[in-house]
Amino acid sequence: MNLDRFPRINLCHAPTPLEFMPRLTQHLGGPQIWIKRDDCTGMALGGNKARKLEFLLGDALQQGADHVVTLGALQSNHVRQTAAAAARLGLACTVLLEHRHPNPDSDYLHNGNVLLDGLLGAEIVYRPGGTDMAAALMLMGDQLRAKGRRPYLIPSGGSNPVGTLGYVKVAQELLQQAQEKSLRLDHIVVASGSAGTQAGLVVGVAAQASKVAVQGFAVSQAAHLQHARVAALALATAQWIGDFPEIPPEAIRVNADYLGQGYSIPTPAMVEAVHQVARLEGILLDPVYTGKAMAGLMDWVRHGRYRSDENIVFIHTGGQAGLFGFCNTLSHSSRKAVNANPLD
Ligand SMILES: *Cc1c(COP(=O)(O)O)cnc(C)c1O
Repeated sequence: MNLDRFPRINLCHAPTPLEFMPRLTQHLGGPQIWIKRDDCTGMALGGNKARKLEFLLGDALQQGADHVVTLGALQSNHVRQTAAAAARLGLACTVLLEHRHPNPDSDYLHNGNVLLDGLLGAEIVYRPGGTDMAAALMLMGDQLRAKGRRPYLIPSGGSNPVGTLGYVKVAQELLQQAQEKSLRLDHIVVASGSAGTQAGLVVGVAAQASKVAVQGFAVSQAAHLQHARVAALALATAQWIGDFPEIPPEAIRVNADYLGQGYSIPTPAMVEAVHQVARLEGILLDPVYTGKAMAGLMDWVRHGRYRSDENIVFIHTGGQAGLFGFCNTLSHSSRKAVNANPLD
């Protein structure tokens, strides 16, 4: 399958590394665990959204846009990467941020991604929790057009068929890397939110008739809802590409057991996963997405759900800027985790 006919601009340091995690693998005593470093895509601290933005902003430039508009939660990684991409291309950028965190502390409100959105020059517009953000995005588009601007609207997480092409491409990149290492991939594990990452991987894997299973761990809603979201986006993306083999329903695998109370609400298992991976591998996960997905993977390994001869690739989708929005949650538990702080 050739994606070259879709407009795309280079924003990423790619291919990102595919690395073995020897100490985590040994610690868990199960399958071989690998990590695809899409936290290292490079643009303004990296992450998965840069992959989608290559196609989205390629499309925006082709349409003659001069202004990018998107939306997200206060600590949205997608918003931060969109602000960076717009800056890099010399486009104006307006971002709508929803105050939807139930118990925000000062770091969550002002540090991490929010700080970076401002540094990157985005105009930040706050909306109260519960706002219909998709409608707010359309309205902002209308207002900008009325002022003579040519806005390009990007939905939540960049997850429409255009953005999802980014992860169709990553599936190609990953399968090629595995082939170069003579590595048989059995499972891909990924955090699943607005669903473009998982849907793109599913479509990309199907396009190459690979047998690798793509497992999503939902971070924002119940499994049946997330399953429907991924399936609909995978179908829409396959239709967008055209002339595409059918995607069997069993190719969409979603589990929501590690979501906890809801989107961006910390769980003890997330805190443990963030600490373990930091201390065993020197790799930083994030509290909202990869920490919960890794908590799921670690628990499944402990429950013997994988054979020891299987190879698993965890997609590191980035998000570390979010760590600085969760200083309280993570630093209290760090002290507990090392058992004693000499200054306490
Ligand atoms: C957005 C995001 C995800 C989820 O990707 P979707 O395509 O929205 O499902 C995972 N990890 C991080 C760090 C993200 O910012």
